Amino acid sequence: MRAVVFEQFGEPAGVREVPDPEPAEHGVVVRVEATGLCRSDWHGWMGHDSDITLPHVPGHELAGVVEAVGARVTGWRPGDRVTVPFVCACGSCPSCAAGDQQVCEHQTQPGFHHWGSFAQYVALDHADVNLVAVPDGMTYATAAGLGCRFATAFRAVVQQGRVAAGEWVAVHGCGGVGLSAVMIAAASGARVVAVDVSPQALDLARKFGAAECVDAARTPQTAQAVREVTGGGAHLSLDALGSPVTCAASVNGLRRRGRHVQVGLLPSPDGTTPVPMARAIALELELLGSHGMAAHTYPAMLELVRAGVLRPDLLVTSTITLDETPSALAAMGTAPGGGVTVIEPWS
Ligand SMILES: [Zn+2]
Ligand SMILES: [Zn+2]
Repeated sequence: MRAVVFEQFGEPAGVREVPDPEPAEHGVVVRVEATGLCRSDWHGWMGHDSDITLPHVPGHELAGVVEAVGARVTGWRPGDRVTVPFVCACGSCPSCAAGDQQVCEHQTQPGFHHWGSFAQYVALDHADVNLVAVPDGMTYATAAGLGCRFATAFRAVVQQGRVAAGEWVAVHGCGGVGLSAVMIAAASGARVVAVDVSPQALDLARKFGAAECVDAARTPQTAQAVREVTGGGAHLSLDALGSPVTCAASVNGLRRRGRHVQVGLLPSPDGTTPVPMARAIALELELLGSHGMAAHTYPAMLELVRAGVLRPDLLVTSTITLDETPSALAAMGTAPGGGVTVIEPWS
C-alpha cells in the first residue's frame, strides 16, 4: 500500500510503498477512504509525542470500509462502513469497565502508538470495543472528523463542560476542534464568543453560530475582551488550541464558578504549563481536561447529526491526496485556524 512515512522528527515526510497491515485477532484492517489532517499529527511529526517510534505513519481521524477481520471479532465484517475514536480502548481495564474508554489504561491511538491512517489501509485494535458504524448518507470525509475533532469538541462542551442553554461559552482557538465546539455550543442554546488571530477563522465561527468574535491579533487582552462581551465572564470556556497563552486566557475569561476545559494539547519540555490557579481558587473555577470520546457515547452525537442540528460536513473545506500530505503536514504548525483538510488516500 501507499503511505505517508517520516523517518526523522521534523524532517520532510515522503509517500512510499510499505507492506499492507494484517489484523490482530481482536482487530480489523480498514481501507481508508478519508482521514483528517489534525494539529496533533503535526505535534507527532515534530517529536512532541513520546509514544511515536520511527519510522512512522501518522493519521488518527479516519473513516473507511472494513477490509479484513481478526478471528475473535464478532460484531464487524468486511464491507462495513466504519470510523473509530482516536483513543482506541482495550475494553477490559478498570476505566473501560467504568465506561470511560476515552482514558483507557491500555489505549492504542492510531498514528501515535502504531502506524496510522495517512495510508491506504490501517490496522485497528479491539474492533468490537472501538468501531462505530458510519450512518447511511454520511460521507467518509465528514465521518473522518468525528473520531477526533468533532467528538472531542462534543465531549468537551456537552459531557465535560456540561453546557446549558443561555450560558456564555468562550472558545479560544477556532481550528477544527474549536469550530466544532462553536457549532455544538451554539446548537445547545449557548451564546458563543469565539477567539482567534485569524479573521478567516472568525468568519467561519460566525457562520457556525458564534454571537461574538474577538480578533486576538488586534485585541491581545482576549480574557478582558471576553469578560466585557459576556457581562462578567464566560460560564464555560475552552482552550481549543493548546498554548500557555490561550490556556491562561481561557481561565482568566471565566466568571465566578466558571468551567475551563482544556482540549488543545499542551506539550512542554517538562510536561507542565502555568495556569492562573489563584484565580481558580478565588472564583471557585473548575479546571477540566477532555480527551476524545468513548465509542459507546457516539449515538447521542450521531442523532444530532442525523437530525441536522449539528453539521460536521460544513467543517471540511478542502480535500487533498496522499502526495500532497507531507507538505500540508509541515505547514500545519503555522496554518491559520479555519476549515479542515481531509486526505483521500485513493484519489
Ligand atoms: Zn485529531
Ligand atoms: Zn481499557
